[in-house]
Amino acid sequence: MKPRILLVEDNENNRYLAEFLLKREGLVVDVAVNGKEALDLARRKAPDLVVMDIQMPEMDGYETATEFKREAALAEIPLVGVSSFAMAGDRAKALKAGFVGYIEKPINPETFGREVSLFLRVRDENSTVR
Ligand code: MN
Repeated sequence: MKPRILLVEDNENNRYLAEFLLKREGLVVDVAVNGKEALDLARRKAPDLVVMDIQMPEMDGYETATEFKREAALAEIPLVGVSSFAMAGDRAKALKAGFVGYIEKPINPETFGREVSLFLRVRDENSTVR
């Protein structure tokens, strides 16, 4: 079965590009435009991985990650942050919020799909060990 990705991105252009690249990689993609919708879709679709923009209005990526971790059914889903933050502490902040990885914006169309696939592989290897 194809891996299922939940893409969370508030910007329409970024969303369109990321969805295209993930589908081109052979992944099944559900799309949410904000944190609330992400939580709702995650409960219904049980994604293998969440790829989430950090900078979103109302509920940002950090807050949304915290909500994922708070809910038993969602807490184990790996979260990958996507952010254009240039400051050095943001990667650390994302990891502390529960993200397993971090991809910098602007996303590179040549590598984005593969980067996301690599995070899926890490997850699979971990579950084999367990
Ligand atoms: Mn954004």
